[in-house]
Amino acid sequence: MIALPRVCNNYLSFKTITFMLNLDFHPSGRHFLQIPGPSPVPERILRAMSLPTIDHRGPEFGRLGLKVLKDIQQIFQTTQPVMIYPASGTGAWEAALVNVLSPGDEVLMYETGHFAALWHKMATRLGIKTQVITMGGESDGIPNAWRHGVQIDLIAEQLKKDSSHSVKAVCVVHNETSTGVTSNVQAVRALLDELKHPALLMVDTISGLACAPYKHDEWGIDVSISGSQKGLMLPPGISFNALSQKAINVSKNAKLPKSFWAWDEIIELNKTGYWPYTPNTHLLYALSEACDMILDPHHGGLEAVFARHKRFAAGVRAAVNAWGLPIQCADENVYSPVLTGVILPSSVDADAVRKVIYERFDCSLGTGLGKLKGRMFRIGHLGDTNDLTLMGTLAGCEMGLKLAGIKVQGGVQAAMDFFSSNPVPIPIPKPNPKPNPI
Ligand code: PLP
Repeated sequence: MIALPRVCNNYLSFKTITFMLNLDFHPSGRHFLQIPGPSPVPERILRAMSLPTIDHRGPEFGRLGLKVLKDIQQIFQTTQPVMIYPASGTGAWEAALVNVLSPGDEVLMYETGHFAALWHKMATRLGIKTQVITMGGESDGIPNAWRHGVQIDLIAEQLKKDSSHSVKAVCVVHNETSTGVTSNVQAVRALLDELKHPALLMVDTISGLACAPYKHDEWGIDVSISGSQKGLMLPPGISFNALSQKAINVSKNAKLPKSFWAWDEIIELNKTGYWPYTPNTHLLYALSEACDMILDPHHGGLEAVFARHKRFAAGVRAAVNAWGLPIQCADENVYSPVLTGVILPSSVDADAVRKVIYERFDCSLGTGLGKLKGRMFRIGHLGDTNDLTLMGTLAGCEMGLKLAGIKVQGGVQAAMDFFSSNPVPIPIPKPNPKPNPI
């Protein structure tokens, strides 16, 4: 407190300081951050970030760099290079496009929701020729395309017309965070193989990674794009491109301007654990810790992480079904393990309901994005969460919905019944992992 006036005089207005302090001043208990990313950061990861800053050209850093580069390969399930950028997911989208494409190149982009639409907007701004594929029709003002995953027949229809192979890439979003739909990416690979089409397969798994099963190598993905603030349980600020050898080869002749994002220099320096620029040291400490947590064989490793998310999602859906409200994802085969979108009657402003839940019960839910503004809210069930956190969230939702005049009941009970009758499977213990080399 004594230092406050000095800090105020030097740098920040008193109003700003008060606002910042208020951010960490919830009346009591923990804030429920139940948006589909950024997700809550576990204390173990926050503690790892409090290590001192080190020389990013020094020997300790090289060891840290090599460790996180190896760990993140395991998360993507790849043996090929993974770029780590000090940027949000949007930066990694751009990196993916500019490294493999040339001005005027054609790409197929499938619109499953708001994030797919934003990626498309970026591609057009970069001078790429885009063909947008999407499912037609709508019901109650909500596009069908935003309630389903990618429809393989629609992609097939376009690719079959492309006998000259002018389409250079097919871009799809694995887990569409705006809708709660997880598309079948393997089916897109199978289609490209069946048609012997040489287009690269580029996949946004920004919110899918470390929540939903994802196998970069086995699924034949050429560029996978991800971010830190979702399943990896890190703060926002780093993002990823996992590559294939084919994508690396293509990048050698790609002509879109690039410098900061260029893979070639990063790949070279990463061989010794360094980067061509100053990397985000503290987020790399955090990444190291997150990978230790996610990959820990004593907790069942990645498979247990996927099973956990699937179970959380089923518990939350049990509540939404009991409330009698439609789930945004209309196809149960592609329900997202990361989040559940809840559609409200068109007479109700979903953001007003979110506001009640935030103000009365200290719980943040995801807003409806783009075409879904005001029609739905999103419950995040990813990362560092558990049954009781989700029960608290669902209780907040049920109380908030009732306060907003929507007659719902039984959701909390349905979720309790689900969680209590479906215990977490106990992982089979595996041998101790190698000691941390840092
Ligand atoms: N793609 C998806 C699927 C996302 O969920 C997000 C962010 O939530 C983005 C892209 C954009 O990432 P960022 O906001 O980190 O730039």
